[in-house]
Amino acid sequence: MSIAIKHLVVIGTGLIGGSVALALKRAGCVERVTGVGRSVENLEEAVRLGVIDDFNHDIATAVVDADMVLIAVPVAACDQVFAALAESLSETAIITDAGSTKQSVMISAEKHLKYVSRFVPAHPIAGTEHSGVGAAFAELFEDKKCILTPNEQTDAKALAQVQSMWQAVGARVKIMSAVEHDDVLAAVSHLPHLAAFAIVNAVGKSDDAFRFAAGGFRDFTRIASSSPEMWRDIALCNQQSIVDKIDALQEELTILRDALNAHDGGVLLDKFASAKQARDTWMSKYGDKL
Ligand code: NAD
Repeated sequence: MSIAIKHLVVIGTGLIGGSVALALKRAGCVERVTGVGRSVENLEEAVRLGVIDDFNHDIATAVVDADMVLIAVPVAACDQVFAALAESLSETAIITDAGSTKQSVMISAEKHLKYVSRFVPAHPIAGTEHSGVGAAFAELFEDKKCILTPNEQTDAKALAQVQSMWQAVGARVKIMSAVEHDDVLAAVSHLPHLAAFAIVNAVGKSDDAFRFAAGGFRDFTRIASSSPEMWRDIALCNQQSIVDKIDALQEELTILRDALNAHDGGVLLDKFASAKQARDTWMSKYGDKL
């Protein structure tokens, strides 16, 4: 099913919101895009780049005649966004989001929205370490997964429309529960980001070390250049799942540390070999779809 959006309002016109707008425009699926954001410079740049047609600083007036609203702000800001738009949305408007955590966003939607059944939570598994509308590009979601986490309240037609919208930007849509989403993403995305921040901080305690860092360090730490504000929000909004994954990582590090102290090459070899096998298997199965 293709989608035809008359008026899309993008709240948070950054990398993700801007890329959705560009991809929908390129696909010919949207007539008008209004951007909402915090900085005039960013919104003016969005108009210049052809990402949005116009902008409005006031969420409540921006969404009045929207048929689709995309919330693409850092996840802790979603609560205030839902509160601001709740009274102005039409009965028929559909809302989706792009937040990296899903349970926290759904709790906010339920708290504020009159027509919460028309909110379809989404998380595109695509991004870069860059932020802001200048980093947006139409191909960002091509052949990437987008996870939707509807629940029993979600309106079937709204779900179908949102599914079509994410497919129109090139994504492969998967559906799962918000609980499962937050647990899986804590493991494969949130923990690696926190580990990358921690490694850079640990290494950065000695100024000299960076001078000798090479490609391996660059590859391992690329995601530590991501937006600190966005990652503070993700960490706080998926706190328990991430704490569980940090505990699992600490257990693995303790095994390595004990093996080193005991000069036990056997344990090191087993651990390195099982990690290599798991990663090689993952890459051969999914590497060309990343
Ligand atoms: P970004 O920083 O590029 O853009 C966010 C935009 O939201 C900025 O323009 C900012 O000014 C605006 N904003 C912040 N608070 C606001 C508020 N209260 N009201 C209106 N605008 C506000 O970030 P992004 O990478 O586009 O991320 C947006 C969302 O998408 C986040 O929830 C993030 O978790 C999620 N996400 C990010 C990635 C990624 O790799 N960057 C991937 C998937 C999902």
